[in-house]
Parts: sequence; C-alpha cells; structure tokens
Amino acid sequence: MEASGRSFSDRVIQWYRLAGRKTLPWQQDKSPYRVWISEIMLQQTQVATVIPYYLKFMQRFPTVRELAEAPTDDVLHHWTGLGYYARARNLHRAAQVIMDRHGGEFPRTLEQVMALPGIGRSTAGAVLSLSLGQHHPILDGNVKRVLARHRAIDGWPGQKAVENRLWQATETVTPAQEIQAYNQAMMDIGAMICTRTKPSCGECPVAQDCRAHAQGNPGDYPGKKPRREKPVRACVQLMLVHDGQVLLHRRPPSGIWGGLWCFPQFDTKNEAELWLASQGIDADWQDFQPFRHTFSHYHLDIQPVRLELGRQPGQVGELEHHWFALDTPLKVGLAAPTEGLLRTLETGGRD
Ligand code: SF4
Repeated sequence: MEASGRSFSDRVIQWYRLAGRKTLPWQQDKSPYRVWISEIMLQQTQVATVIPYYLKFMQRFPTVRELAEAPTDDVLHHWTGLGYYARARNLHRAAQVIMDRHGGEFPRTLEQVMALPGIGRSTAGAVLSLSLGQHHPILDGNVKRVLARHRAIDGWPGQKAVENRLWQATETVTPAQEIQAYNQAMMDIGAMICTRTKPSCGECPVAQDCRAHAQGNPGDYPGKKPRREKPVRACVQLMLVHDGQVLLHRRPPSGIWGGLWCFPQFDTKNEAELWLASQGIDADWQDFQPFRHTFSHYHLDIQPVRLELGRQPGQVGELEHHWFALDTPLKVGLAAPTEGLLRTLETGGRD
C-alpha cells in the first residue's frame, strides 16, 4: 500500500534514520551471538529492563563457548529476575548444540538457526538479518501489532490462520534492501509509537494509509486471546532454617521453575506435615504472609512456613538439595517467589 508515492518500507526506513534506536548494547560490535542473546532476552521483556541483564550476561558469557561450558546454575543465576526461565535453559542447550554441531560458529542459514532449541522463525530471521544483513522478514509481537493495525487484520495472532495472514503481510512489505534498518525500525515503531494501549499515530510514519487509524480503533488490533479464567492452585513452601542457613531443593530440569532452586513445596499442609515426619523433623510451624504468584496458565497461592531446626538433618527428600547461608548472596538460579521469601527471611521479618 502506498501513500505520498513512497512505499511502506521507504517511510519506515526514513523514520529509522531520524528516530530509530541505534545505540543499544547489542547494536555495537554486532555478531549473531550478541544479537541472539538480546533477541531471546527481549521476548516478553522491555528494552530498559533487558539492558542491565544483557550487559552482565555478556560480561560473564562473552562467547558461545563460555556459555556452553558454564554450569546451568551460573546461567540461571544470570537470568534470575527476568522470568520465563525456559529461555535461559534453551540458550544454554543451544550454545552446546552450536559447539557440538557447528564447531562453535553460530549457524548462518535460517533452517540451521531454527533447528536450535528455543528459536522460532521470527527470532531466527531477526538474528540473521540484524547481525548479517540477510534478507528475512520478521514477525515478533511488535511487528504483529503494527501490521495488524495498518492492514486491519482481524483475529488473535495465536490462531494459525491469523498468523499466516500476518506472515504474508510482513513478507509483502519487507524490502529487498536495507533489511537491518527496516527490521529494527519495525520493532522500534511497535515498541515506541504503535504501543499496545496508547499508539502515537501523529508520530507514525505509516499513519497515512493505516486502516485502524482511519477507522479510529487501533486498540481493536491485534485481536485478543479468548479469555479463560486461570485456575487457582495452592501450595505450602517450607523454609527450613538452621544456624543461619536455609535448605533449598533444585527442581527437576523440566516443568515449572525447571532447574531453579526453591523451597520444598507441597500441595497441602497435611502433605507437608507427613513429609516432615518422614524426615524426622520436628519444629515449630511459623506461618508467613501468604501470597499469590501468577504463571501464564494458572495462579499459585503460596503459604510460606518457617521452621527453625535444632539440628541439621542429613539427606532431605529425594531432590538435590543444599544448605545456603542466609547472609551470603546466592549465585544460583532462583524462582521469583523464592528470591522474595529469602529476602524476608534475611530481615527476619514476618510481614
Ligand atoms: S497509525 Fe497508529 S495504529 Fe497505525 S501503525 Fe501507526 S501508530 Fe499504529
């Protein structure tokens, strides 16, 4: 669709030259590895939040080899606070695949990159186009929003038919030249101008022929996911404390909080008590303030309980476990509620 005789992509690229982001850390010393890490961190997370994590991550893991050879705990530790930990586990596994199958060189074809754990078509296209200038259209959340509005594409992009229409749209408008500027610009326009709730259409380079803008309803695009009430589950988490140390278990590698260190967790108080009895642990039960942690598909109501032990038991439960000193910062991956509870424990508070 044209306006003022200039193509969609020309207007987008010209806007990028004037107002696009050019000084982000991953835009310096560009390499597929550096751009890959940034693209994974930026999924579900805003640029301003990502920058400090990215800088620390790159300092610790400057190359694929260093990431591949790092202990999982170290990788998860550098992800603590960013959430969606499957991203970190996949990064780690993908780095190992790159070492094993590609001799440590980040692969150069779309198919090879898409074969790595945790990388879909859009992310693969973004890495190869932004770092190497290869011609690949992208369709991340920002680009979906801009195109769904510009072309008034109805429906929730989680549905295959809607996603296919959006891929067709991005393939049609992506230019043969200046792919780096264009793809970066589309992500920037989605993040900075065509925002979820308050698009600044007055500053948008493609407003002249934007259908949603003309209709006065950008907020209707893209269509929302059909709402379903999230189920609520409950659990009891036991904070076993002895002599300034606290017991944490490492969760199994897959599933919720996979590979992260957490307090022993039970579905009910009764189960927790039975388990304590089976471990020969007898201590006063001190309830902390319960709180809710929300996952993408359910709410978890957590009842934390502190138990001060007179002696440190030997083996506790089936899972790998460790007694951590409360006054020493933990260099392992922690689930967000565990991190919060540890802070409360450190201050001795019962808020
Ligand atoms: S004109 Fe408005 S709704 Fe349309 S793409 Fe630009 S910012 Fe989004």
